[in-house]
Amino acid sequence: MENAKPINMVLLGPPGAGKGTQATRLIEAYKLLHISTGDMLREAVKEGGDLGGKLSDYMNRGELVPDEIVTKVVIERMSRPDAQGGVILDGYPRTCKQAESLDAALAGSGKRLNIVLYFGTSEDVLIQRLSGRRICRGCGRIFHTVNMPPKVENICDDCDGELYQREDDKPETVKNRLKVYEQSTHELIEYYREKGLLQEVDGSAPAEELFEAIHVLFQEKGLI
Ligand code: AMP
Repeated sequence: MENAKPINMVLLGPPGAGKGTQATRLIEAYKLLHISTGDMLREAVKEGGDLGGKLSDYMNRGELVPDEIVTKVVIERMSRPDAQGGVILDGYPRTCKQAESLDAALAGSGKRLNIVLYFGTSEDVLIQRLSGRRICRGCGRIFHTVNMPPKVENICDDCDGELYQREDDKPETVKNRLKVYEQSTHELIEYYREKGLLQEVDGSAPAEELFEAIHVLFQEKGLI
């Protein structure tokens, strides 16, 4: 599928709203680079060192990592050649301060955001989705124990990797993450609404239906 121009988009919505699943489909369909700050920060934790240790303290508590650290990581990633055809920002920005830093950095390199998709959904759906979410250690593919089970229990359909549950998908941390999300992103949603970039989609809809709805939205907005 040919894009009319690079699509730089932000996926907004609480953990479990289906952003990761849609991102996987969107990058393939529209040849975009997926930038997930959660994934990048988890990689940094795995690498260890001072930074990794500091990050894991915040992340294991379900708190946000300081803005300066996250913004630096994202801007650096967006400056590389493979990001020039368009990106999906997933999990960033999470605060107005991050959104302002992002706008400034994009303007400085002659780019801008084209669309912000807000995945609206209920808390019950989120808790059910997060507690059943399983991820492949090998390729990162996302499964769900009930909604999208692998063919063989705990084994990835694609690469035979072992599936695991994220530490912060366990019930107590999930509740804190949803609370932190709610507090920090309310103003962010307004920020993008005022800029005319916000488009709300139904995060509780089945993945295929939602993907189709996003495709139609892209057509309406002249992005494809
Ligand atoms: P996620 O995979 O998006 O749910 O992110 C997991 C954790 O990484 C969050 O609970 C935060 O601790 C951290 N994190 C990810 N993105 C950001 C961000 N934009 N700002 C601050 N912390 C973040």
